[in-house]
Amino acid sequence: MKDCIFCKIASGEIPSNKVYEDDQVIAFHDLSPAAKVHVLVIPKKHIANVMEINEENSGIVAHIFEVIAYLAKELKLEQGFRVVSNCNEFGGQSVFHLHFHLIGGEQLDVKMC
Ligand code: AMP
Repeated sequence: MKDCIFCKIASGEIPSNKVYEDDQVIAFHDLSPAAKVHVLVIPKKHIANVMEINEENSGIVAHIFEVIAYLAKELKLEQGFRVVSNCNEFGGQSVFHLHFHLIGGEQLDVKMC
């Protein structure tokens, strides 16, 4: 999608500090890490956020969680981590391309629920 920063990262137009890539998914370090490990896992195909997940595209979400489980081991997060997807204004979403924050590497202190 034109003007979507994460589409540009997915296509390689904008560089990223990549930790994983396959034909459907890319994962890279967040520019402003909230913890020692903070990786974003995104589908290459543009989906705005969780509100746009449906029967036709939900397979990518299952695949993203397989990648998250793989990365949790690769990044040595066995002691624990958090997966977050912010949605729309009240959820604090700032980039409108579906992404999952994988956060860990230390004790996380802000417990939302
Ligand atoms: P959210 O606020 O949930 O939409 O998350 C967007 C995240 O993308 C924020 O944590 C930003 O720090 C991160 N971010 C924005 N631009 C980039 C970029 N070019 N490379 C890596 N992370 C980015």
